[in-house]
Amino acid sequence: MLVDPQKLYTVLLNHFGNQDWWPFDKEYHKINGSDPRFEIMIGAILTQNTAWSNVEKALLNLKKNKSLTVRKIVDMPLEKLKVMIQPSGFFNQKATRLKILATYIYEKYDSDLDKFFKRDLQEIRRELLSLNGIGPETADSMLLYAGNLPIFVVDGYTKRICKRIPLQPKDGSYDEIQQYFKSELSKNLPEKDMVPLYKELHALIVELAKNYCKTKPCCDSCPLKKDCRFSLSQKSF
Ligand code: SF4
Repeated sequence: MLVDPQKLYTVLLNHFGNQDWWPFDKEYHKINGSDPRFEIMIGAILTQNTAWSNVEKALLNLKKNKSLTVRKIVDMPLEKLKVMIQPSGFFNQKATRLKILATYIYEKYDSDLDKFFKRDLQEIRRELLSLNGIGPETADSMLLYAGNLPIFVVDGYTKRICKRIPLQPKDGSYDEIQQYFKSELSKNLPEKDMVPLYKELHALIVELAKNYCKTKPCCDSCPLKKDCRFSLSQKSF
């Protein structure tokens, strides 16, 4: 049977259950009166080219120092920020990127994430992409998970499964894959329902790639094995 994004979502949700992404520390923000959306934005930068477990260590350092706010990142000396986020790797680059993002929100939006996110999605996206070190995947993660805005995140895992299953466009660009998921998933849903669906599907694709569709895939136990051309082609040898 043909796999499309809707079927992919249904199969993965049945297999893995609800992922409830993006992970952040609700209790910390309740106690400290800080905005959890900024933790998500920090996490979206820290997770570039590293495992989430490393990001968690860096976030924990920032939490211990009560530094998960726009203002704290703006005021923190760059060298200190580098030390705090060291566990996430590429800390020189990432510290600079965090500084640029925080300074931008501080200077242009008075550190107010309501002001930042309550605008046209494409306008915010253009601004994020204009900041050094923020590419489409990072920008879209911020828009979807921190901004609660309807945009699908395409990562390396999504590209991999598009190629293997395959899903159209199997060798597409970031924008082509994003547009494909949007047009397929929005056929039966109003736009307001797209946000939870996009959040969940992206998280489920990450689970699929971490557990089964790895660099060397484990097709025998994968929930998609009966419908995946890569798996079926392996069996024909
Ligand atoms: S069956 Fe194999 S190649 Fe296909 S999605 Fe699952 S792990 Fe990946």
